[in-house]
Amino acid sequence: MKQVYTHPILAMVQQMANVLELRQVPSEVRNQYAAGAAGELAFVDSWPQLVVDDIDFQRALRFVDQELKQTGEDWVCPECKEYNGFAFGACWQCGSTHPEDAI
Ligand SMILES: [Zn+2]
Repeated sequence: MKQVYTHPILAMVQQMANVLELRQVPSEVRNQYAAGAAGELAFVDSWPQLVVDDIDFQRALRFVDQELKQTGEDWVCPECKEYNGFAFGACWQCGSTHPEDAI
């Protein structure tokens, strides 16, 4: 297994897992419960990680790259205040659309 993405906010890692799932790349989220467990663990190593099989690594990395290169910023859902990655047009939690799309 190889890591293709990591972020201190678990929801962001799960969103990226969804992105890969949509493209038929199986992935796994690790360190789900490590974040915030202890102040001393506040290093990149303890962030939630998205890992894929070695055989899918290059493909997964390309998809992750594409997502990260899209213009825009992370946004907070106006409905449920959930934190969403910029690549996502709708809130992962409640399904509300991106505020700018709603205008
Ligand atoms: Zn929401």
